[in-house]
Amino acid sequence: MADRIHVLPDHVANQIAAGEVVQRPASVVKELLENAIDAGAGKIELIVKDGGKALIRVVDDGCGMSEGDAGLCFRRHATSKISGAEDLFRIATKGFRGEALASISAIAQVELITRQEGDELACHVRIAGDEIQAREAAVAPVGTSISVKNLFFNIPARRNFLKSDKVEFRHVLEEFQRVALAHPGISFKLVHNENEIHNLPGAKLRQRIGHLFGSRMDNRLVPVSEETQIAIISGFICKPEFAKKSRGEQYFFVNDRFIKSPYLHHAVMTAFEGLLKAEMYPGYFLFLQVPPHTLDVNIHPTKTEVKFEDEQSLYAILRSAIKHSLGQFNVRPVLDFDHDNNLETPYAFKDRQAQAPKVSVDRNFNPFTDPVSGGGLARKASRETAGWEALYEGLGAQPVGEPQPEGIEIPSGAPEETLLEGSHLQGQDLKGVFQLGRKYIVTRIKSGLLLIDQTRAHQRVLYEQFLENITRKEPVVQTLIFPLKLRFTPAEMHVLEALTDALEGMGFRFGEFGDESLEIIGLPALVPEGEAPGVLDGLIAGWQQHEGEQGFSQGDRMAKALCRQLAIKAGTPMEPAAQLALVNDLFGSREPGLSPFQKPIHTTLTLEELDQKLNPNG
Ligand code: ADP
Ligand code: MG
Repeated sequence: MADRIHVLPDHVANQIAAGEVVQRPASVVKELLENAIDAGAGKIELIVKDGGKALIRVVDDGCGMSEGDAGLCFRRHATSKISGAEDLFRIATKGFRGEALASISAIAQVELITRQEGDELACHVRIAGDEIQAREAAVAPVGTSISVKNLFFNIPARRNFLKSDKVEFRHVLEEFQRVALAHPGISFKLVHNENEIHNLPGAKLRQRIGHLFGSRMDNRLVPVSEETQIAIISGFICKPEFAKKSRGEQYFFVNDRFIKSPYLHHAVMTAFEGLLKAEMYPGYFLFLQVPPHTLDVNIHPTKTEVKFEDEQSLYAILRSAIKHSLGQFNVRPVLDFDHDNNLETPYAFKDRQAQAPKVSVDRNFNPFTDPVSGGGLARKASRETAGWEALYEGLGAQPVGEPQPEGIEIPSGAPEETLLEGSHLQGQDLKGVFQLGRKYIVTRIKSGLLLIDQTRAHQRVLYEQFLENITRKEPVVQTLIFPLKLRFTPAEMHVLEALTDALEGMGFRFGEFGDESLEIIGLPALVPEGEAPGVLDGLIAGWQQHEGEQGFSQGDRMAKALCRQLAIKAGTPMEPAAQLALVNDLFGSREPGLSPFQKPIHTTLTLEELDQKLNPNG
């Protein structure tokens, strides 16, 4: 009987292996960038087209390859980085499997131009689907340029599996950011479809973070540093008050390699315990150096998951290092609601200026008078609450007769007390509403009590208003007398530029688009000026996070991002008139039962349920 076992031809083996190493353009980016770093490059350029599907090119000024190596590097298990199994335990480079270039050339058209110091000519190799198609001498600077074109050109099933260019580019960008963070001393450039997204000079980590994520990051960072036998920890955490609703900038690097570790992430989160509001995520950029032999990077083909020898000690060290930093830099708890800035927003002002927000010059304004009796704070407060005023225009209690005096009444005590006093709200029958736990609005209905989640209710109301603005394209714009100049990263600017039409449809008005800054000359009436930076940040983050989702229009997603950002938060006291207005608005909306995020907005407690609770045995 004939033998049935045969060894797979190389190109088949390579294609199979490629499935492990290369899932998408971003995987290629990672491998090529790592090779450039291993080659000792000081300057690396990444050029991509169509999210990396059409082209990924990495150009470095590293050591380059000899003519012989330029042919060999595409062979499976061709590596210059280890020569025996024992080397595996002291790997200081990124690569060692000698798998990446072999895999990539099995599933794409690859072009390599490389020259070593001392060689007169560069070597130019073209290879596609594992077959060398051309080899010739060329003129090129020292270093290496590798172009990967038409990824998965010979495996249509894999190619069809790729997401939109936008989504693939998000992954590429993420990979680029990880590598750029891990190597702040190297300068990097990223160009997508001819647009320069990042141009990062070699710098210290702190500056690199600023260049990547915006210079406003700088005063948010707290350094972390700890040295023990097991590990050296360095890097930065973000102050808890800048925590985000989405898991944004969270980076671990072990021996300068980005890794994912839910276990270590947990250590960070416990260090922040008590400092974060529910479902908020702190940013961090943490670097661990451990002796190479205590680390196993071998367990995952793309090497983002690693195994530590002494994981438990590492957990404890990390947690204590972060706690120490938070303490040392005097990071104040934000959970202390009595001192929460939110609560200092005096919603009592809402009755005072029920007009659409406008800036007026106060000739009597003297910034040096006591803010409690002077006009300064009052003006600031009224600007900050402008969005609310617009929302409640004509609905809340109107001031009766005389214009209000200039003095400020800071709302004192719990909102419940204010309700009981109810002094300046005469004429309104507000007995039926009150706020519970600064979170729910309770109102009486025929059958019992109706409990409304204030945040979700407000989200619903704002969402519908924004949607209406977008669809009617006649937004109410507040023109700013002093344009706001906001800083963004080039990547963020990219998102904003793509959204310009939609944003203008909602009432944003832009001046100059800089490379890293944007001038805002008008805002939607519903967006208070002070909230504008947060709103745009939230929009960008939400946008990037939900980019791949199908089935929702741009306008819908934007309305969602805005209402999520602007809706009144739990923990914020509301004036009774504002409560009532919100209830009215909610039940005037199209879908008062469900928040834009498909969460229930209200529930009831009926008299029967109460009776039953109190008389469980009938
Ligand atoms: P590995 O990085 O695991 O060794 P690769 O397939 O990524 O395997 O690369 C194979 C070899 O090609 C490397 O070991 C290195 O010698 C060479 N090489 C790849 N990219 C570069 C580059 N940008 N500059 C210099 N040499 C490179
Ligand atoms: Mg490699």
